[in-house]
Amino acid sequence: MKKVLFIDRDGTIITEPEDEQIDSFEKLFFLHGAISNLSKIAREMDYELVMVTNQDGLGTESFPEDTFWPVQNKILEILRGEGIEFKEIFIDRTFPEQMAPSRKPGTAMLVKYLAEGIDLSASYVIGDRMTDVELAKNLGCKAILINKKGTEDAELCTTDWNDIYRYLKKISRIAKVARNTSETQIQVEVNLDGTGKSSIDTGIGFFDHMLEQIARHGNIDLLIKVKGDLQIDEHHTVEDVAITLGETIIKALGSKKGIERYSFVLPMDDCLAQVALDFGGRPWLLWDAEFLREKIGEMPTELFFHFFKSFSDSSKSNLNIKAEGENEHHKIEAIFKAFAKTLKSAVRQTDNFSLPSTKGTL
Ligand SMILES: [Mg+2]
Repeated sequence: MKKVLFIDRDGTIITEPEDEQIDSFEKLFFLHGAISNLSKIAREMDYELVMVTNQDGLGTESFPEDTFWPVQNKILEILRGEGIEFKEIFIDRTFPEQMAPSRKPGTAMLVKYLAEGIDLSASYVIGDRMTDVELAKNLGCKAILINKKGTEDAELCTTDWNDIYRYLKKISRIAKVARNTSETQIQVEVNLDGTGKSSIDTGIGFFDHMLEQIARHGNIDLLIKVKGDLQIDEHHTVEDVAITLGETIIKALGSKKGIERYSFVLPMDDCLAQVALDFGGRPWLLWDAEFLREKIGEMPTELFFHFFKSFSDSSKSNLNIKAEGENEHHKIEAIFKAFAKTLKSAVRQTDNFSLPSTKGTL
């Protein structure tokens, strides 16, 4: 589902004059940093941009159409030149005293658009008034307020567009997935731009230890909580964690713009592990690692292959894993660390933010 930024115009993208009506080019000034930061947001992140603006009495004697459109069209043209395109533009023309349901903070104008299917929990309203914050509440999304006066109802209050960019950049690749079956209940949260923090509880000590490697050496924040049918055996828990982890990472990656394909070779004492990973949209696992012990800790070694196979299937990634060495604990730990290092490089965004594919999609 798509994520949306519902962006106000006056006081948010352009400055609002005393009389609150921009009906001539003399009154047109952009907010400092609005164009450059919106341009970066459009280029680097996966938000759809939608303009929502109240223009009191547009089309009446007090605000004739021919004083509005030349300025509006110029604003859009300037923004387009910097790569900022609005998917939709909603303009309410009523006066405040009409109390129209279409007027912000009302949502009547947006009903049809909302029916397209939007991940509102990951969407934001950006505006300079409390009516924008109320609109966010009415939509069920979050708010960013551009105003010296703060409010607890907004996730961020600032007068600086640089703050808005930094805030969105930090959270733009966070995803959560919950997966509940009769065998397991799993909750996974991932922040691909995290710092390596983890909170993991699968009920299998050695598996937790391996998953912590993914967070720490992959430099991603990872929360995994599992209630599995361990009274039967470890199989469902390991398999379903892998499936859910793969789904969550793919969700956090979004359109995958800016990511690359990577591999990593890592020694660990007597062992050498090599992992190559490509989120190319097609699952494949090549596994060349032999384990002679039946279990490490309480984890059956046959489930190592199964973990990576399930991850590859659910994330539609191509995984190529090889490991050699004597000590079985070292061998699997080296594989998980090499996987983490590969993942870290593979999800890192490069500066050009283009899709690493000639097909135009991944
Ligand atoms: Mg405004």
